[in-house]
Amino acid sequence: MKYLIALLLTVVFILPISAQEDNPKLVVGIVVDQMRYDYLTRFDKKFGENGFKRMMREGFNCKNNHFNYVPTYTGPGHASIYTGTTPKYHGIIGNNWYDKDIKKMVYCAGDTTVSSVGTAAVSGLMSPHRMLTTTFADENRLFTQMRGKTIGVSIKDRGAILPAGHSANAAYWFQGGQEGNWISSTFYMDELPKWVNNFNNSKKAESYIKDWNTFYDIDTYTESGADLNNFEGKFKGKETATFPYNLKALSKKNGGFNILKTTPYGNSLTADFALAAIDGEGLGQDNITDVLTVSFSSTDYVGHKFGVNSKEIEDTYIRLDKDLERFFAALDEKVGKGEYVVFLTADHGAIDVPAYLQSAKIPAGYLDNDVRKVLFQKFLTDTYGTTDIVEDISNNQIFLNRDMIKALDLDLDDVQEAIVNEQIAYPHISKAYTATTMASVDFTEGIEALLQKGYNQKRSGDIILVNDPAYISYGKTGSTHGSGLNYDTHVPLLFFGKGIKQGHTYKKTEITDIAPTISALLGISFPNFAIGQPLEFVFN
Ligand SMILES: [Zn+2]
Repeated sequence: MKYLIALLLTVVFILPISAQEDNPKLVVGIVVDQMRYDYLTRFDKKFGENGFKRMMREGFNCKNNHFNYVPTYTGPGHASIYTGTTPKYHGIIGNNWYDKDIKKMVYCAGDTTVSSVGTAAVSGLMSPHRMLTTTFADENRLFTQMRGKTIGVSIKDRGAILPAGHSANAAYWFQGGQEGNWISSTFYMDELPKWVNNFNNSKKAESYIKDWNTFYDIDTYTESGADLNNFEGKFKGKETATFPYNLKALSKKNGGFNILKTTPYGNSLTADFALAAIDGEGLGQDNITDVLTVSFSSTDYVGHKFGVNSKEIEDTYIRLDKDLERFFAALDEKVGKGEYVVFLTADHGAIDVPAYLQSAKIPAGYLDNDVRKVLFQKFLTDTYGTTDIVEDISNNQIFLNRDMIKALDLDLDDVQEAIVNEQIAYPHISKAYTATTMASVDFTEGIEALLQKGYNQKRSGDIILVNDPAYISYGKTGSTHGSGLNYDTHVPLLFFGKGIKQGHTYKKTEITDIAPTISALLGISFPNFAIGQPLEFVFN
């Protein structure tokens, strides 16, 4: 008997088993836009058993997962999650940035060489062409001889396009206004497939233009601030930022279908469309791994308008949990329990509204950019005789006019250094660095290391500025993000499904570890400039 078992084992292990047969049929990457790590713990009592908690119960929870670069914005975030590298290498240095070559602002996913598909609007002029490296979805396409499909889905174009990568079969995003349709670009296709047209014709988006009230009795929402407070933005046409919201009435003054973006229903609609994509594209139906990337954008819109401590945010996460529950249940049914793998993370966190922090005596506030601008212009005129020496200020970076510096016979390093010394004198600017420093000194820790991983020598500016902790350039209501502080860098990272064990860790993990981890799980090449490490402790 023993002999027979040994023989059987030998046969099993020497049989040529292709890596693919053992692989998950479908990889689902979920990005929750602007999700802080502490939403998992803060709203824990409000979550059901089969959404976020199912991922934690059945899968692996990396509780100390961080972004490892600045700036923490949506475009760089999505690119970094899926490429396993940072703006230094993938080149997505912001959502928008000043292009030094053409001397104007560009959008991370904008592409004027393609056309819209599914709309007459310009919102379809999009592609991943500014992203310089591959995503794990690209590597899966190459590995499977293009037999494994990739589909990207998000309300935001960049949330759909950057994750799916360059070789994706399709990326779809939402066109609001009077249309309320999922659209794409000629980068992927000439016309929308039948299943997308069917979805658009089903008027699903319209069905969400209804009342938004809290899912549970608002009095039980003890994990967030008062519904009426001074820290929230408002919809046009409503006096207060308080429940309930009549979306049908409000949609007229708030961009038609665009209002859905700033409600939990934008996430519900995204889940509906992602499930339709699984059916329409036959994802996860054979042993060749497919990739579905889903980004839930409404959490970010709600956070920007109402802030991270609002009742609106709490309700949005309670409802997202319900959407995840039905999404996972549908995956069990459509792909099969244990046949797919899911990871969930965020593209960045967000800060508590600084005005609220001030009310709690915590150091926080807002930069006075108008005063700063006047003083800076005076400095430039006094020192160089012209303000034209600066071409652009954006994303906390200053871009210099290289031609003018040459024409004035100035030294670039001297000008960068002089501006650093001038900028650091302003209130609530805590650090300033020159591009020369970023390109020549190797930082290994602290904010400097984060800045360096976000600094792209060809694309970034000449002077890089850092605000004091909890000081932002933003309106006095709502939350934002972009810094290297924990409120922006600390985000969830959950894995569950085929090949993943149950557990958790407080060991620090980084956002760039995700793509190498999925690549290792699939046995495929890492994205071509991935710098992260596979998190082997999450594997079975
Ligand atoms: Zn945002």
